[in-house]
Amino acid sequence: MRRFLSQRFAALEPYVPGEQPQDRSYVKLNTNESPYPPSPAVIAAVAEAAGQCQRYPDPECMGFRRALAELFGVGPENILPANGSDEALNFIFAAYGDETHPFAFPNFTYGFYPVFCRMNHVPYTEFPLRPDFTVDPADYLGTKAHVVLANPNAPTGIALSPETIEALVRSDPERIVVVDEAYVDFGGESCVPLTKRYDNLLVVQTFSKSRSLAGARLGFAVGAAERIAELNTLRYSTNPYNLSRMALAAGEAALADNDYDMANCRRIMETRERTAAALEALGFRVLPSSANFLFASTPDCGGRALYQALKDRGVLVRQFEKPGISDFIRVTVGSPEQMERFLQETEEILRGKLPPKES
Ligand code: PMP
Repeated sequence: MRRFLSQRFAALEPYVPGEQPQDRSYVKLNTNESPYPPSPAVIAAVAEAAGQCQRYPDPECMGFRRALAELFGVGPENILPANGSDEALNFIFAAYGDETHPFAFPNFTYGFYPVFCRMNHVPYTEFPLRPDFTVDPADYLGTKAHVVLANPNAPTGIALSPETIEALVRSDPERIVVVDEAYVDFGGESCVPLTKRYDNLLVVQTFSKSRSLAGARLGFAVGAAERIAELNTLRYSTNPYNLSRMALAAGEAALADNDYDMANCRRIMETRERTAAALEALGFRVLPSSANFLFASTPDCGGRALYQALKDRGVLVRQFEKPGISDFIRVTVGSPEQMERFLQETEEILRGKLPPKES
């Protein structure tokens, strides 16, 4: 029974993150983490920062913002530091959405967007993806709503070109277009350069995937200085110390060791292509992925059954009980050895004749 919770949150259904089971060890391919640990330089920098934890971190996150600004050829005033990109996204929905300023996004995309909307009392429209799971830009050109697009999209892995996004940004300077580039380092093309020309574009990125720092909680938004100042008003009104000393040290060291992370991204992309080909050889339909995961379905077995059978065999993937995509599993691209094990278990499961698909 609800005794104290405000009426405002009575109907709020929280986001359900991917499982992080502690009961046994799994080949963990369900939350799009990197299979590779952070670089030794990052680990050393975090240890050093831990030794100074009696002091608050820099609320301006200046070292971190400067390093990002240099990487992208923008100024530190164009960078909003965030405790994971989820925090940056939450600030964006809260800052720009209200009863008269709804948001629009695809029906199959990052499941947190509708939760951010409900949390912040922002109305939203979900536009269906096309039958081939691509975004139809015309849907968004035809609305005045603010737009959020994960690019590459999740859970499909399919990317839009920056040209398509630019057309959307130009179509209406009075609406904000948010591009969530959580997976851009795995073969997508970034819209960050466009933020220098359009003050209604915000790009959000994370250190959780391509930079092996999901556990550090580190993300950011890039945009016009006025937009970042607006978002900073929310940040300073929520938690001026939103990034810990360890997270900031990890982020700065990771950017100084950029080649390490980019080499890992290339390895992951190679493993992705090999895994996609192997799945296709097993009869799977595999969507073309520009991300560190594959979205795949097989006529031989329902998505839920395959997820469960893999879990029983110690391999964790993600499956969404949502009409239209419930036949798919989303598999994070891990190390070559992890993918070998995933493919071997999958093949054995399919050979063992699971109950046929319902539909
Ligand atoms: N955007 C997308 C599309 C994601 O898949 C994720 C990861 N679940 C996030 C944002 C959030 O990432 P983080 O908060 O770890 O930066």
